[in-house]
Amino acid sequence: MERTLSILKPDATRRNITGAINAKIEASGLRIIAQKRIRLSVEEAQQFYAVHKERAFYDDLCKFMTSGPVVVQVLEGNNAVEHYRTVMGATNPANADEGTIRREFAESLEANSAHGSDSSENAENEIKFFFSDIEIVA
Ligand code: ATP
Ligand code: MG
Repeated sequence: MERTLSILKPDATRRNITGAINAKIEASGLRIIAQKRIRLSVEEAQQFYAVHKERAFYDDLCKFMTSGPVVVQVLEGNNAVEHYRTVMGATNPANADEGTIRREFAESLEANSAHGSDSSENAENEIKFFFSDIEIVA
């Protein structure tokens, strides 16, 4: 069993499709063991995406991630980190496989509906960033 951090991004809350995305997550076998709706501050978005701070899209990305509420989640399952990235599909929805969250729901490369941790180590740190132990109920 492994855990990963998921964020349903502001384009998903704006279009009221977080339930539709959750249905896909659950149908894939992943279990949502923690979940809350929050509004990120600019500082939180900058800190969360700090690995990208030298990239040209960083400021826009932080602006987008603070443009509306997000739903942060802890997902649990076998091989959860890699499995959820498969369920999400490629970063650019134009390259995402049929049936994936981003193929079905993403609006653009930036507004791509979902975030998933990219390694087990990052998942642990990202989960700690948003959740305390008592908020996670496996
Ligand atoms: P995430 O970290 O959100 O799960 P990812 O790991 O597939 O996505 P990253 O390379 O970590 O992709 O990029 C983080 C996010 O930054 C992307 O999900 C997307 O919203 C945005 N992004 C990435 N590349 C670009 C780009 N070239 N132009 C605009 N936005 C981008
Ligand atoms: Mg990433």
